[in-house]
Amino acid sequence: MSVASDFLKEVNRRSGEAVQLCFQCFKCSLGCPVTFAMDFLPHQLMRLVQLGRKEEVLDSHTIWVCASCETCTTRCPNEIDIAKVIDTLRQMALEEEKTAEGDVAAFHKAFLDSVSHFGRLCELELMFWYKLRTKRFLDDLWLAPELLKRKKLSFKPSRVERIGEIKQIFKKAAL
Ligand code: SF4
Ligand code: SF4
Repeated sequence: MSVASDFLKEVNRRSGEAVQLCFQCFKCSLGCPVTFAMDFLPHQLMRLVQLGRKEEVLDSHTIWVCASCETCTTRCPNEIDIAKVIDTLRQMALEEEKTAEGDVAAFHKAFLDSVSHFGRLCELELMFWYKLRTKRFLDDLWLAPELLKRKKLSFKPSRVERIGEIKQIFKKAAL
């Protein structure tokens, strides 16, 4: 069995998608709003996955620049959930400690950690971990007074009632 097919199979298994169905029609990339910031366009990323080019895929900026808007997913004639595939690739990159866009990866991790703790986002916790990981403590401190004034920062985290179910989802997703 080739390394290439191993990577494709792993991406398919974890995402539940069938990336090999992509026939390079380009529709995903034509609809994507952030291609200007990508090193590989979405259709190119799918091709790299098909070819098993794991290093290039997991080292790419594209997987961190993707805004998960799902435009590509709705446009794909083969019903490949491209946004879900990219989310899977982000997770695989994190596991291998590959973060081409370090700040975005730090935000992604801080966001998910907070949701796993409370079942919803706690902005203060998100900011704490994001700042700690990026060491950019003072960058946007000037925004804090305005956020507080608009009640966008709560000092008291609120937890959803059935937090156990949220934790189960995270546990399942980690398998
Ligand atoms: S989900 Fe990501 S790749 Fe797809 S269209 Fe949106 S930003 Fe582009
Ligand atoms: S829209 Fe679907 S089939 Fe077309 S290039 Fe993108 S992933 Fe491949």
